[in-house]
Amino acid sequence: MDPVGVAAAPDAGPGPAWRSKCPWGAPNTTSISCSLADVMSEQLAKELQLEEENAAFPEVVAVAEGPFITGENIDTSSDLMLAQMLQMEFDREYDAQLRREEKKINGDSKVSISFENYRKVHPYDSDSSEDEVDWQDTRHDPYRADKPTTTPRRGFIGKGKDITTKHDEVVCGRKNTARMENFAPEFQVGDGIGMDLKLSNQVFNALKQHAYSEERRSARLHEKKEHSTAEKAVDPKTRLLLYKMVNAGMLETITGCISTGKESVVFHAYGGKSATEDKVIPPECAIKVFKTTLNEFKNRDKYIKDDYRFKDRFSKLNPRKIIRMWAEKEMHNLTRMQNAGIPCPQVVILKKHVLVMSFIGQDQVPAPKLKDVTLSSEDMKKAYYQILNMMQQLYKECNLVHADLSEYNMLWHDGKVWLIDVSQSVEPTHPHGLEFLFRDCRNVSQFFQKGGVAEALNERELFNAVSGLNITADNVVDFQAEIEALEKMNEDHVQNHGKKLSMFSSNGDPPIYDE
Ligand code: ADP
Ligand code: MN
Repeated sequence: MDPVGVAAAPDAGPGPAWRSKCPWGAPNTTSISCSLADVMSEQLAKELQLEEENAAFPEVVAVAEGPFITGENIDTSSDLMLAQMLQMEFDREYDAQLRREEKKINGDSKVSISFENYRKVHPYDSDSSEDEVDWQDTRHDPYRADKPTTTPRRGFIGKGKDITTKHDEVVCGRKNTARMENFAPEFQVGDGIGMDLKLSNQVFNALKQHAYSEERRSARLHEKKEHSTAEKAVDPKTRLLLYKMVNAGMLETITGCISTGKESVVFHAYGGKSATEDKVIPPECAIKVFKTTLNEFKNRDKYIKDDYRFKDRFSKLNPRKIIRMWAEKEMHNLTRMQNAGIPCPQVVILKKHVLVMSFIGQDQVPAPKLKDVTLSSEDMKKAYYQILNMMQQLYKECNLVHADLSEYNMLWHDGKVWLIDVSQSVEPTHPHGLEFLFRDCRNVSQFFQKGGVAEALNERELFNAVSGLNITADNVVDFQAEIEALEKMNEDHVQNHGKKLSMFSSNGDPPIYDE
């Protein structure tokens, strides 16, 4: 399916202007500014009604096949819901009619015409039954396949310092170019990858700074137009999903927004009652909403499509499904960690791109990040050994590398460290798995060395301690080169045999460190 055509087409009808400007924007034609708590209160239905009845219908259509409508517990208390159901029915009939006409006109003719663009329910917007699968084992992380095939990875040649350093610059430059795709979707980065552009770190950092300030600037502009940040954070579809959870009694109340990031928004909620008896909903929950901003993913399309590993799997997925896979992945990874006994949020439920988990913290106050908390030197040391242990467990028992481990994604709660934010976590045999692990080790080492933990291993020692590998290089450059060589070996093996090497554990289990 043509992604451009798809992105341009979801509104079969007179789409309101705000929609094309900001997919996250709330329809604010008439509604007045209000806090999230208000929106999530009992009055939600009324508010939604007011807001959305004034918004154009196509937006509503997109939600129509959600779980609200299909289950037995059809919600008839809201006029909006009823309207959506009716609209959905109408659209279905309309599309069926179109299909009949299409068939009639085309007949057996070899040349056929398509009414696709006239359909009300576009495949893009509709939720196929496939969408209802709440999660699956997503063993590969499509977004980390960020090395486009146009810039094939060259293995490093020899161990000579010159060669490695030069090579490193090239790889670094390409990486920087590829990393530009992480900038805000509005930020035009051009086709640096296509022309094998290599950005120096200096240039990249300058660009990054610029991209961020641009992003902030446009965010400020938006904010003026929209209401509060929390309001802006969820689109109507997501709000309906949340509303449904409250309505079903699963959540008591959604109190407010804890964090607004680029890829997700996290809310706090008080847990309610579970529909099934075997499941207990924690008294306090965190709701992580993965942003379904479509633009960001259009850019990534090419990496996925061109990557032999993802071709089959992802060519059929639309961006919305891919964003759900992130949420699925986080859930899946959290479950693995839970099973290994690593302190982390407990998964409550996953609905599409919304992941509900237990709240780390108390009375609506989230546990502080490790970077924001001042620990005694004893606690600091304790935290260090705990993290060392967790990294080993994560690697060995969960077969995972966190891939974004730092003092930002570790919370201090109940006298121990909790790991969060694992949607990007990958298996060690991921094409860049070991590089991610090394980066994690670097963050952890630096944090604790700066924090005065004399026992803290350096990044290389930590890497070996976690992975059980025995890379002997005595400097970072050579060390990284060896890591990349190992990854390359694995990649080649995958290419040739379609299977992963188990080499990463060939040295036996990593030693478990104890205090
Ligand atoms: P992001 O990808 O936006 O960094 P995170 O999962 O790290 O997403 O969540 C962002 C922030 O929300 C965290 O830094 C933390 O402060 C808070 N948070 C996330 N999950 C929880 C949780 N289960 N309990 C308490 N706070 C949480
Ligand atoms: Mn985070």
